[in-house]
Amino acid sequence: METNRGYDVIAIGGGPGGALAAAMLKRYDPSLNVLVLEKERFPRDHIGESLLPGVCHVLNEVGVWDKVEAADFPVKLGASLTWGRNADSWEFDFYPVEDYRDEPRPGKFAGQRAATAFQVDRSIFDSILLDHAQSLGAEVRQEVQVEKVLREPDSDRIDGLVLSTGETVRARYYLDCSGRSGVLRRAMGVESWVPGELKNIAIYDYWQNAEWAVKIGVGGTRIQVRSLPWGWFWFIPLGPTRTSMGLVCPAEYYKKCGKRPEELYREAIELQPEIQKLIANATSEGKLTATNDWSHLSSRIAGENWFLVGEAAGFADPILSAGVNLTASSARDAAYSILELDRGVLNPAWLRARYDTRHRTAIDQHIRFAQYWYASNGCFTELQEHCRNIAKEGGLNLSPMEAWSWLAQGGFAHEQPGHAVLGSFEFNAAKRILANFDKEGRGVPAAIENNNVFELNLDESRPESVGFLDRGRIRLLDGFRRGERVLAVVGPNELVYFALSRSKDIVTIVQHIRERLQQTKLSYPQQELALHKAMAALESLVAEGWVTASMDRTKARVVNKGVSATIRSSQEGAAALKKRDEKARAENVMSATMASSSSSMML
Ligand SMILES: Cc1cc2nc3c(=O)[nH]c(=O)nc-3n(C[C@H](O)[C@H](O)[C@H](O)COP(=O)(O)OP(=O)(O)OC[C@H]3O[C@@H](n4cnc5c(N)ncnc54)[C@H](O)[C@@H]3O)c2cc1C
Repeated sequence: METNRGYDVIAIGGGPGGALAAAMLKRYDPSLNVLVLEKERFPRDHIGESLLPGVCHVLNEVGVWDKVEAADFPVKLGASLTWGRNADSWEFDFYPVEDYRDEPRPGKFAGQRAATAFQVDRSIFDSILLDHAQSLGAEVRQEVQVEKVLREPDSDRIDGLVLSTGETVRARYYLDCSGRSGVLRRAMGVESWVPGELKNIAIYDYWQNAEWAVKIGVGGTRIQVRSLPWGWFWFIPLGPTRTSMGLVCPAEYYKKCGKRPEELYREAIELQPEIQKLIANATSEGKLTATNDWSHLSSRIAGENWFLVGEAAGFADPILSAGVNLTASSARDAAYSILELDRGVLNPAWLRARYDTRHRTAIDQHIRFAQYWYASNGCFTELQEHCRNIAKEGGLNLSPMEAWSWLAQGGFAHEQPGHAVLGSFEFNAAKRILANFDKEGRGVPAAIENNNVFELNLDESRPESVGFLDRGRIRLLDGFRRGERVLAVVGPNELVYFALSRSKDIVTIVQHIRERLQQTKLSYPQQELALHKAMAALESLVAEGWVTASMDRTKARVVNKGVSATIRSSQEGAAALKKRDEKARAENVMSATMASSSSSMML
């Protein structure tokens, strides 16, 4: 049975990938006919509940952030982890908790909230996103499964989709947003690379009335990651009463131990006193589920009239909490690429290659970083051989400097051209993590502190335009290519490029950047933040070989404190939290006093 209507775009799957891609397309071109096919009836449970701030920027762009905020999910400020050198816990915050103010909810996507993320009950979150896509005019069909992908003979084009209803539907473009099913990926014969040593298994359940380990301001908290000798726990409050709690361990360990999932899950709880305490008065929902084989990277993710989006394209590991972030980023980019293909201004082959490189590199970088995490967790006392194998497979020597060079092989600036990141971690934060993982606490030396002469090195590179996503358009910006590496002259990189074109001396470089920032409309704190981002960009450009660094003892140096998401010990984190609470109490008392004095004035 053939449907009469031809669509512009069909997305297979109504998870975050399908819903966000459809919403993004409709947001910028409401005339497009977009169909989303989802085999389940929403709401349906799904893992992937701990989000990163990057997701919220995409939610805001498609106009759904307010709806998500209205669902009252916990605000995620960061994570508390036992992972690394020893069993001491440490904290990673997206926003310094001591500065996090009490603000009523629902709030707005601005100020401190633009730096935070959510911990979401995916059954509710995914429904909000899918309904939003529908409200923007996308056609959403639930409980309709794509059963067959029709391929044009001898070509890389898709001709149509055969549905569980017996219909055949056709479109100009197809998006595979089917998650692990990878419906289109498989049909197009795209191979997937599976990093052997990242073969883990997760056993998870939901709990009612567990304690939140920490409360920060109004509705704010951190997820908890707790290591065991042979695996780790995630503990993610999803709302006032519901918590997701999962155990992850190597699939090999699970096989060898000969225990059933429920036995291993129970044993892990008994081994972890903090988790035990948090669930002391809680009851499990009795939905224990196991899943495995999630790490993979597709060998290509863009074809003639199709794109792979989200987990269909690839995924690293839950330890980085980055799956939905990668998904949102690729959904946005696939939509932008289609909008640009339709405009017909940019070269179609270039657009496809850009999408393919950008997102495959991002997934690859996450896989590398996840391998590094597993290879260097000293808490895994029963998995030492396994950790050594991961290190061997990755070619990892665990001195931080060597590890850094290995991680740098994939480059740093992929998610947002010009902004250096590693596995969704901001550049300086990633460096701090390496120091946290090193047995002797050795860090990666900062190029800026050990050198004072910096020179652009564009040898053997050629100018190449870089795509920059901006309000529905892919704009062409200046850049350079050297082999696989691309230097995007945009954002913080552009500031550094500007300053290095004028001076080699770090003190004058910083002056040039400051002067340039003073000419903008940025407030003083924003200028300072932009300067620190430029310093992180300079570090990453040295790491990638675009800038050479050397020391001239006759010249001055600068001390770069480096503002990054905060990483510190749990004791320091607790002290910061105490300071925040005291400040908030004082502010509340002050506003209550002002309210009562103004009401007495009215009397
Ligand atoms: C153990 C584990 C823990 C994780 N934890 C986190 C975390 O804390 N944070 C995080 O960000 N990410 C996490 N992730 C990753 C996250 O779950 C995924 O990255 C994210 O869900 C991918 O979104 P998606 O839209 O690509 O796919 P999905 O969310 O899987 O959506 C795909 C949709 O496609 C539908 N579908 C499939 N086949 C068909 C078909 N033939 N026809 C029609 N519809 C179809 C499915 O029903 C589904 O609704 C975790 C992953 C694992 C394995």
